[in-house]
Amino acid sequence: MLSIRELSKTYANGVRALDNVTLDIPRGMFGLLGPNGAGKSSLMRTLATLQEADSGTVSFEDGKGGSIDVLRDKDAVRRQLGYLPQDFGVYPKVSALDLLEHFAVLKGLVDRKQRREVVDGLLQQVNLWDARKRHLGGFSGGMRQRFGIAQALLGNPRLVIVDEPTAGLDPEERNRFLNLLAEIGENVAVILSTHIVEDVTDLCPNMAIMNKGKVLLTGKPADAIGAL
Ligand code: ADP
Ligand code: ADP
Repeated sequence: MLSIRELSKTYANGVRALDNVTLDIPRGMFGLLGPNGAGKSSLMRTLATLQEADSGTVSFEDGKGGSIDVLRDKDAVRRQLGYLPQDFGVYPKVSALDLLEHFAVLKGLVDRKQRREVVDGLLQQVNLWDARKRHLGGFSGGMRQRFGIAQALLGNPRLVIVDEPTAGLDPEERNRFLNLLAEIGENVAVILSTHIVEDVTDLCPNMAIMNKGKVLLTGKPADAIGAL
């Protein structure tokens, strides 16, 4: 689904966050595991077209037999992508319903009736229907992350990228969130970046391990974790 070739990025401070990353990401839930500082967020931001790489290529299957050059044809990627960044911000004094409506309009859902159907459906899917009129500032970490997923799913993306979504969640909220991701992963390709081994082993049929800007290995969790 995504083919990454010799992708490198060095920041202005000299840190080489991506060091010749070559990786094929198949359809389905894909786990990107690595400690803090491994380069996961740098890779996720690059795939989400929010950061330039110094060199390398990324191509994304367009679903019609062709492929999109991710680093060049950003608009085409953005139309098919949902992205939940690490530490994404919400407006604390806005209700979940109003903010999701707002983003739905920005995504081009201009027809009011159709938009309501989409927004209501997403709020139900992420289990925030009962909380939809509450301000986001009063949401727990898990509720916020679930709101973030609803936002990422607006516009029917073919690929959803979630960066460290379970960091800081208590075990119950974490399980709830992972169950939601698994449901989503049945229909949409999901890349899950995390430093928590169990997030990947519980959920992802395929994975890669990154450290110090490099991909150390890829494969099935049972093989990859065993090889460490
Ligand atoms: P991870 O998501 O795995 O924690 P990051 O991609 O955030 O890894 O970081 C990889 C390395 O790049 C780290 O050493 C980090 O400090 C550095 N880094 C990340 N973003 C920037 C930036 N904007 N400017 C300079 N260095 C950065
Ligand atoms: P009212 O009592 O004036 O109808 P609500 O509290 O029901 O107001 O709704 C507040 C806001 O949420 C309004 O802007 C309304 O358009 C919107 N809204 C209400 N219900 C829905 C819904 N099912 N789907 C999407 N937006 C809704």
